Formats: sequence, C-alpha cells, structure tokens
Amino acid sequence: MSNNDFLSGGFSPALESADHFTIKKSYDLFIGGKWVKAAKQIPTTNPATGETLSKVGLAGKKEVNQAVRAARKAYDKVWSQMPAAERGKYLYRIARLIQERAREFAVVESIDGGKPIRESRDIDVPLAAAHFFYHAGWADKLNFAFAGAKVAPIGVVGQVIPWNFPLLMAAWKIAPALACGNTVVLKPAETTPLTALKLAELIEDSGLPAGVINIVTGAGETGQALVEHPDVDKVAFTGSTTVGKAIRRSMAGTGKRFTLELGGKAANIVFEDAPINEAVEGIVNGIFFNQGHVCCAGSRLYVQESIAKKVIKKLQKRMETLVVGNPLDKNTDIGAINSTEQLERIKKLVKDGKKEGACMWQPSGGVPRKGNWFKPTLFTECAQSHRIVQEEIFGPVLAIQTFRTPQEALTKANNTPYGLSGGVWTDKGSKIFKMTAGLNAGVVWANTFNKFDPTSPFGGYKESGIGREGGLQGLASYCQISH
Ligand code: NAD
Ligand code: MN
Repeated sequence: MSNNDFLSGGFSPALESADHFTIKKSYDLFIGGKWVKAAKQIPTTNPATGETLSKVGLAGKKEVNQAVRAARKAYDKVWSQMPAAERGKYLYRIARLIQERAREFAVVESIDGGKPIRESRDIDVPLAAAHFFYHAGWADKLNFAFAGAKVAPIGVVGQVIPWNFPLLMAAWKIAPALACGNTVVLKPAETTPLTALKLAELIEDSGLPAGVINIVTGAGETGQALVEHPDVDKVAFTGSTTVGKAIRRSMAGTGKRFTLELGGKAANIVFEDAPINEAVEGIVNGIFFNQGHVCCAGSRLYVQESIAKKVIKKLQKRMETLVVGNPLDKNTDIGAINSTEQLERIKKLVKDGKKEGACMWQPSGGVPRKGNWFKPTLFTECAQSHRIVQEEIFGPVLAIQTFRTPQEALTKANNTPYGLSGGVWTDKGSKIFKMTAGLNAGVVWANTFNKFDPTSPFGGYKESGIGREGGLQGLASYCQISH
C-alpha cells in the first residue's frame, strides 16, 4: 500500500518506520515456556489496509487445559515458593525489556489494531511498562500493603482481554497477578493477538520460569474454555457486558474469585464556568482517543445550556482539524476502526441515532479509500431515551445534551445501566466535590479526562463490572488476605 492511499490532513506524511522488526508468518501458543502448535489457526489483519499480517493459534479445550496445567505446575513448584523479592526482580526485568523494545511494540500495536502511533508510542507502551514497574515494587511489600494481615496468593488466574488496549490490558492483568505470587493463562482478543505474542517472546528472553505466564490465542470459545476450567482459581475478564454476564453465570457456585471490567457510557459534564478551550480539548480526548474504542470514553456530553452553542461551535471547529488516516503517521489523530464487525456496529447505531431524531454532524474531510474508517461524529438534539445515549457505541461518536442545574446534570448522567467513569469541567472546587460525589461511576476526572496510572484503581458499578484493577484495591483482588 502506498502513502498516497492515505490522507495527510494537509501535512506532509510523517511515517513511523516499520522495518526494524519482523512479524512471523504464523505464531504458536505459549504454554509452559514452549511454543505449542494449535490444531487450528486464525488470521489477524491490519484494519487500516485489510491485509493479513499473520496467523495465530486457535486454542481449543485441549490446549487451554494444557496451559492451565502448566500454570498450576509453575504455581505449586516454583512461583508460590519463590522469595517475593525474587519475583519482583523478574517483574522489573520484564518492565525494562518492554522499554527496550518500546518502538517495536508501539508499531506492532498500531499495525494490528489500528490505533494512531502517537497513542501506542506515548500511552499504551509506556503505561504497560509502568504497570510492571509499579507491581514489581509491591511484590515483597504485600504485608505492608494490607497492614496487620496475612497475605497469600490465590493460585492460577485465567485472564481474558479485549482488543482496544491489547498490550496495556495484558500488562494490567499479568503484573499484579505475578506480584502477588499467582501464575496466569492469558487469552488475547482475536483481532489483536500480536503484541501479546511479542510479549511472550520477551518473557522467554527474561528467563521467567516456565509456566508462570502462558499465552493462548483464540476466539470466544477459547476464552470460555479458560474461564470455565475447573482448575482456574480466579477469573479476570475485560470485555463486553454481555460476555461478562455469561461468564458470571457460568461461575456461579464454583467459588472462583473474579473481577469483571465491562462496558461504559460515561458522562462528560461541562459547566458554564469551565475553561472552555481546555474543556473542548478534554471532550475531544474523551471521545476520539483510540477511535472511541475506550470503555471509559466520554461518549455523552452534558453541557450547560448557557454555553452550549459556543461549546458546540468550538468543538466542530476543532473536529475539522482532526486527521483521520494511517495509524503509522505521526500526524494522525484518529486511526482505523479495529474490525469490520465493529465498524458495522458503529454504523448501525449511528443510523438509529438519525432515525430516532437526533441531529448528526461530521467534519468535511474525507477518509482513506481502503480499510475500516469512521469520521469523528457528533449528535445534537439527543433525548435520554435514544439508543445513542443509552448504548455503548465504542466508536468516535459523541451524543450531546444540555442541562441547567447541577442536579439535572447528575440525574441525567446517572440515568444509564453503566457506571464506569465520568468527567466534570468547572472552575469551582465545591462543584467538583458535589459532582464527583454524586456521580455513580468508578472513576471521575475533574478538568481532565482519560488519565490512567497504575497507582489508581479502575473499575465500575452496575453493568460496568465488579472489582477494581490498579492501585491497592487492584492488588487486593489478586491476594488472599486474612486477619
Ligand atoms: P467481547 O466481550 O466480545 O470480547 C472480549 C474478550 O472476551 C475477547 O478476548 C473474546 O475473545 C473473549 N470472549 C468472547 N466470548 C467469550 C466467552 N463466552 N467467554 C470467555 N471469553 C469470551 O468484547 P469486545 O467486543 O472484544 O470488547 C469491547 C468491549 O469491552 C466493550 O464493551 C468495552 O466497553 C469493553 N471493555 C471494557 C474495559 C474495562 O476496563 N471496563 C476495557 C476495555 C474494553
Ligand atoms: Mn489485527
């Protein structure tokens, strides 16, 4: 594919090179420290071009069982027995190796999943390393983390992750599990398996004892075989609410521990006393970061009536400048939609938005010819009952409504089945406290949005899930704590 197939947004192309690493024609499963062939394979494509990048194993029940057995053996014989400070050293080593290979991870993430290189380079990969660094530090300090308590690992953890932050989600899941003395079997998402497999190669290089981390690629049935495996002691799942519910049903009565990180429909609330230009940047970051494939995306904008016209005008002006195009171009703001299925889902909901009477607006620029693209989109004239206000679109689509009083904003913001995140923009500290206390969401940002840090717990209420990841709360979910 030539550069001319992509749009440049008026800038000269500034491509990150992709000639400093290799993607193999096919990858096997990483089980017990060895590469194991799966009976079947599935392709992974580049969503910006439609080209097949590689083939990866489709693990079935047999391979999943093999991986769980390897994890159990490593847990019993090695990992749970090892002095905690030694465990920490491996985590530090993995963190440093991620930093060393950061460029490769960033490019592969953008090629396999479609996200702009600026994001994979500056957010996904550094944060993945940060999760290993942070949890490495906890490994030998767990008894201080939960003062006066006895802390023990749980055992074998089955982890299933989605396609929107593939490497980051893998790090986010693996690092705390290992720090607490557990071993893991991780199942990456079917459209974005490559950085997890590159991580498996890195884990080999790190000398981590065999079986402590096992990575089995595959589809939904692979994930199902993993979470339903009787020898898995804890399930950590990130994905859709529908699948989360099914997993929870399947675990009922088993005594398995679990955390579920599911969907969201966050309200981003802008008051008339907010710094407007900064708020507009926050709105853009809130919904267009990673093409809106973000569970905590600020997908509902509530703007105070007195400034609504002004904010929408500024927002449209800003959206005219967003570059939709080649994920590997450093000028790109919005990359490719992760899969054709996801693109269809977005299109369907946008169609319903128009049908139900909301008013759609998109900037004038085009999108590339080949590949999966969707222009940044906003809807005004939205009603609380509209599908685009109630349902997670998981794409670059913003639904805008207005409010007059803080109470009205709270009532509208909380009127959703979800409760993952939210944002408040105001100059007034007391209003921040009122709103953050009143929002029924696990994470609330004030005068910023989409900020992540391994020290900070993340997770939701209601249909957004159960449990927290990150920080002390996340650590606690990977330990048995007795007083
Ligand atoms: P999904 O639920 O279809 O898939 C997620 C993962 O689960 C994939 O690896 C998939 O193969 C696997 N899976 C599918 N069916 C399964 C089953 N029956 N049992 C076990 N595993 C199964 O979700 P998706 O479309 O890939 O991801 C998008 C969704 O994930 C969105 O709803 C988004 O909000 C959510 N998400 C949540 C968070 C969070 O932290 N709360 C983060 C990212 C994404
Ligand atoms: Mn892919």
